[in-house]
Order: sequence, then C-alpha cells, then structure tokens
Amino acid sequence: MSGANDEGRVVVLLGSPGVGKGTQGVRLGRDLDWAHVSTGDLLRAALKAGTPLGLEAKKYMDAGELVPDDVIVDLVAEHLAAMPAERGVIFDGFPRTVPQAEALDDVLAAAGRRVDRVCLLEAPEEVLVKRISGRRSSPGGRVYNIHFDPPKRDGLCDDTGEPLIHRADDHPDTVRTRLAVYHELTAPLVGFYDAKGLLARVNGEGGIHEVYASLRAAVGE
Ligand code: AMP
Repeated sequence: MSGANDEGRVVVLLGSPGVGKGTQGVRLGRDLDWAHVSTGDLLRAALKAGTPLGLEAKKYMDAGELVPDDVIVDLVAEHLAAMPAERGVIFDGFPRTVPQAEALDDVLAAAGRRVDRVCLLEAPEEVLVKRISGRRSSPGGRVYNIHFDPPKRDGLCDDTGEPLIHRADDHPDTVRTRLAVYHELTAPLVGFYDAKGLLARVNGEGGIHEVYASLRAAVGE
C-alpha cells in the first residue's frame, strides 16, 4: 500500500514503553532508508541543546508523564515539513494519544499523505519491565540492555568507549507511571487504528532479530 501519488509511506510503531519500538525503528529506518522519527529522541535532543522546548518537556519526561499534545504536534509538524515528501517515515513513540493521532492525520492530509500501516508491538508486562530497567544508552544514542544485549565491557559503549547512561525515566517508579500512562492514554489508539483497518499486531516477545522479521512482514516492505 503506498500513499497517494509518489509520497512516501507513513508507518506508525505503536506499543508500550520497553517493547522495542526504538531498537526496531532505528533498524527499519536504516534498512529501508526511511526517516525514523522518535519524539522521545527529539525531546531528549532539545533538552541536551537546552532549548526552551527541551526545558519545558523535561519536567514531564522526568515524571514519566506525557508532554502536552500541542507541543508534540508542533514539533512533529516542523520535522515533517523539513523532510522530502517522497521519503518513507516511521513514527516511534508518536502518536501517543487520540488527539495526537487526529492531528497527525490533519498534518499528513495537508501534504497529500496518510498513515498507511500501524504496527502494534506486544509483549507481557514482566518482559517490558525487565527490558526498560536493563536499558542503558551511549551519549551517541546506541542502546544496550544489560540482560539481553550487553556491551562487551561493562558500562561502556562498544563503539566509542564512553560510559553508558541509565535514563532517569527508566528507573522503577517512573517506569510504573509510564506503563500506567500508556494504558490510559495510548492504548485507545489500538481501537482507533483498528477501526480504520490499519492495525497489524506484531509479537514483540522474542529476540531482536525474530521480532524484526515479524515487523518487516507487517510493514510489507
Ligand atoms: P520515549 O523515548 O518514547 O519513551 O519518550 C520519553 C518521554 O518523552 C515520554 O515518557 C514522554 O514524557 C515524552 N514523549 C515522547 N513522545 C511523546 C509523545 N508523542 N507525546 C507526549 N510525550 C511524549
């Protein structure tokens, strides 16, 4: 399924924190040469750069809560406008609420594009908690997991040797809030996209390569 005319496809990765959207999204983007747009990454970059948006977002992120919809929608719209329309896009961590999904439809429609597949990655809650609590990232953005995908040297990035970071919002209390927020505000998107016939369910429980193969099949590329 492609967008109208020659516009690039738009795929949304949906799923709970820790289900592997980031890991899978990066790989999918690289293999298909599509843009991988993670709103979490955009917000962390804004925070690192010390922009007003980043500083505003920090208080929500540290608490495990969602940044307000209008802030996120403006950020994504700006990002999309700067991208060639024929390039495929993978959204990761966006939309996260029904109003964000409706706003995305409007932004895309204005550019003659639309969401054409939503891949729901699913895994049991105990797997999610282990994945999130074991997650460590390099300053350059490479993600490891001390349980499933550890670095060769404890606490250090394989590529750069820099010390790995444990994200503040990956600590247990915040993780519980993030999972609750997912169930309350993001899970309704499953019904939203299913009703449009766009939803594909992907088993996110296996190893990275296995999940990736299922995801590729669901994306249909
Ligand atoms: P992530 O890296 O996707 O887990 O996002 C980290 C944090 O950034 C979330 O817990 C939210 O505070 C914020 N965030 C990321 N994407 C969104 C979004 N689409 N809507 C609201 N807040 C978001």
